[in-house]
Amino acid sequence: MTLDDGAGGNPVTLTTRNFNAGDQDNFLDSNWTSFRGQLALAGFDANNLAISETIVSHGVTVDFYRAPNRPRTKYADMKAGVIYGLGLVTQDPNLTFPGNRLQVFCSEEANVSLGFRYRKNATEYAAITMGKTSWHWSGDDNTKTVAMEVKSHYQKAWFTSSSKRRCAATAIHEMGHIFHQIGSLPHYILMARVSVLAGQAISIEAVDDSMHENFKAPKLLDFNPQPTAAQLYHFVRHSRRWGTGVSNYAAFNGMNEFVAETFCSLVMGSPIGGDNHVPVTAAHPPDRADVLTAYTEHGGPLPALAARHARRG
Ligand SMILES: [Zn+2]
Repeated sequence: MTLDDGAGGNPVTLTTRNFNAGDQDNFLDSNWTSFRGQLALAGFDANNLAISETIVSHGVTVDFYRAPNRPRTKYADMKAGVIYGLGLVTQDPNLTFPGNRLQVFCSEEANVSLGFRYRKNATEYAAITMGKTSWHWSGDDNTKTVAMEVKSHYQKAWFTSSSKRRCAATAIHEMGHIFHQIGSLPHYILMARVSVLAGQAISIEAVDDSMHENFKAPKLLDFNPQPTAAQLYHFVRHSRRWGTGVSNYAAFNGMNEFVAETFCSLVMGSPIGGDNHVPVTAAHPPDRADVLTAYTEHGGPLPALAARHARRG
C-alpha cells in the first residue's frame, strides 16, 4: 500500500509490504496486548473483567465495565453519550461492530479515551474506553478535539448537559477508530507504524533516533522500501496540514487521529475545511474537499447521510 503526504512541493510517498490476512490477525492480537495494558492503567484488572451492565441499544449489545473502586460521577453521562453515538452510527448499515457487540470501559480518572478492534483467542471484539478526556479538556491546545467544538457549539440546544455532549462526540471519535480498523486495517497499521517510528517529528535527528530504537526494528521492516528519517519527518510534517482543517488534535497526533476526528466531524456535522477556527496555521490551508480526499485515501469510512447529526444553531 502506498500513501503520499499531499503537501505539494516536497511530496513523500510511503509504501508498506502487503499485509496479508495473517499479518492483520497478528496486528489485532497485538491490539489486545496493548489494550489490556491500557485497561490496567485505567484501573481495570484485565484478568478478571466483570461486566457492570449490559444493554441493547439500536441493535447493538453494549457491555459496560466500570473501573472498580473508582469514582463514578460521570458514568451516566458516558452511558448517555455512547447510546447517542450508537443512535447515529447505526443508521449506516455499513458501520457495524463484530458480532453487533461493543464493550465500553468507563474510568473517569483515566488519562485517555480509546477505540480498539482486537482479537483474543481468535475472536474479534470492538471496545472503547471513556476516560477523563471524554468529558474534560486537558488544557493543552494541541489536544483540542471536535468533541470540544461540539460541546461549545451546542450551548442551548440538544443535550443540555455539556458533559453529555462532549461524551457523545468522544464516543463517536472512538467508534471512528474501530470503523477505520474494520474498513481498512492496512491503512490503520501503516499510520500506526508511522506514529511509532516518527514520534512527534520534532526534527529529522529526533526521528532518526526514534526510528532506530531496537524494539522498533520489526516495524521498520513493514515498509518496502524502508523510509529514511527525512522522509518520515517530511511525511508527518506535511500530513499535519490536513488535520488543521479538522481540529488541533487531528493535526498533532498522527493520521489515525486525523481519521477518527474527521469521522467525528462528519457524524456531528462540525465544520471541515478552512472555517473550523483551529488556531494553527498551514501554509496552504485545506478546504473541505482536500480533507475528505485525504480522509478516504487513508481508509476513513464515509458515514451515510442518515448517520449524520443535523448541525443546528
Ligand atoms: Zn483517538
